Amino acid sequence: MSSLFVENILNNRGTAIKGEPDLSYDDLRSGSEKMAEFLLSEKGNLKGKTVLSFLRPGEEYLYAMLGTWLAGGVFVPMPVSYPLSELAHYVKDSQSDILLTSFSDLKKELPDSFPFLQIGFVDRIVADKNIGHNQGVDIKEDDKALMIYTSGTTGKPKGVVHTFGSIKSQVDTLIEAWKWEKSDYIINPLPMHHIHGIVNITLCALTIGAKVEFFKFNKSELFDKLRKMGSTVFMAVPTIYRKLINEFESRDSKQQEDFTNACQSMRLMVSGSAALPISVLKRWEDISGHFLLERYGMSETGMVLSNEYEGERFEGMVGKPLNGIDVKIAVEEGEENTGELLVKGNQLFKEYWNKPEATANAFDQDGWFKTGDRVVVSENGVYKILGRYSVDILKVGGYKISAKDIEEVLRKHEFVKDAAVVGIPNEEYGEVIAAAIVFDDKHNEGKYLSMLKDYALLHLARHKIPQIWQRVEQLPQNAMGKVVKPEVKALIRQSLN
Ligand code: ATP
Ligand code: MG
Repeated sequence: MSSLFVENILNNRGTAIKGEPDLSYDDLRSGSEKMAEFLLSEKGNLKGKTVLSFLRPGEEYLYAMLGTWLAGGVFVPMPVSYPLSELAHYVKDSQSDILLTSFSDLKKELPDSFPFLQIGFVDRIVADKNIGHNQGVDIKEDDKALMIYTSGTTGKPKGVVHTFGSIKSQVDTLIEAWKWEKSDYIINPLPMHHIHGIVNITLCALTIGAKVEFFKFNKSELFDKLRKMGSTVFMAVPTIYRKLINEFESRDSKQQEDFTNACQSMRLMVSGSAALPISVLKRWEDISGHFLLERYGMSETGMVLSNEYEGERFEGMVGKPLNGIDVKIAVEEGEENTGELLVKGNQLFKEYWNKPEATANAFDQDGWFKTGDRVVVSENGVYKILGRYSVDILKVGGYKISAKDIEEVLRKHEFVKDAAVVGIPNEEYGEVIAAAIVFDDKHNEGKYLSMLKDYALLHLARHKIPQIWQRVEQLPQNAMGKVVKPEVKALIRQSLN
């Protein structure tokens, strides 16, 4: 494969990044080559070695990523929102001896415990006229290329290692499935340390030669950006769609109309990373004219299931297996089409960094990757995600109960902004159901909680009615807007003591 996959990106023409000013693919090539030259002269061939990045999404981030790849290394992106203590944890965990950044004070501030850590300042490196042209390292498909940490929704984040081959496979699959074209222009409000922002958005766009605009999420600014005509594709997590809906409600009718028109001129809007509540799907359709394309994937697998670009899309479901991905259900006893989703294919990760045991445990004896997600498949082959076995599937008195189903019902109540359901250990039942509720500002008082309980009695089967109720100001969420259930549990248990 030589360095083909990276070369494909750098051989494109025209604008790569929209910004002030725009950045062309030629500029992207020269910055990335300088970066590679710097890395090669400092460290030699980087095969198998990690390069940590502590950079905002944008051109410097791309120089660092593509430069690391040209030098054969493993790119490990960290969000700049991490405090130093957290960054230090990842320096150690990823065993990096080089960190790329543009924050000039970082060297002084990082603990003395990293005497071997070299810091490269990207802004200075790419401005250096003395750095020459570089041929790059010969890359093999099975070489490690990218390590991303899982979102930490269920426990401590694990470093997931992808190869050049697995990334290429993911990109090729999505370009075909979602019909990416060179003329596309996408605004990316997502963090650049997870697959969603890196692969689904940025690498797909850059591989096909399209334009990306990096944008730090802020709901009113994002609303205004989308309101301007021009972008063709949009991808986000459910929380962002929910916030944009709130923003829409607060605007005057002219701005609402502009927003609707701009959305209608786009060709595709995608949601993923967490379950898309049906209420959000429906309201979004009203205001944008788009029935969101929901898809399912993981750090370890890339995208696995997707509703169709052209065919029918199903509400509350994530569609069918993407091309090149094999899936199977480890069917539960007494069930016909419900169980744990298993995955195989070239897109899959190589290993958890430095965790051979966790890697081995992640696969069954026939080499299928165990997702830990419970799914059900319909007769026509469309999948629905029921939740994670570890936190969303509660075991109450011998029944398996889906937290998601209960959350969906509670969220339908007009005073409820959001809801999270968890299991709290209980000697008699195994677990009992607990609900944490965020009320809207006008109804955030105790009496509304008892109204909600009455509503639950009417709308939920008896065995699904929460026994513990807790009003909260907000739900603990991670960078991808996923509700961190272990923290919800901790909140509730605290209140019980
Ligand atoms: P950790 O593994 O650290 O607990 P995480 O699993 O959230 O964190 P990711 O790899 O970013 O880390 O997320 C993958 C998970 O996200 C999937 O296993 C699934 O539970 C969830 N997910 C992704 N897309 C969807 C979707 N469309 N609907 C429901 N869940 C989804
Ligand atoms: Mg996970």
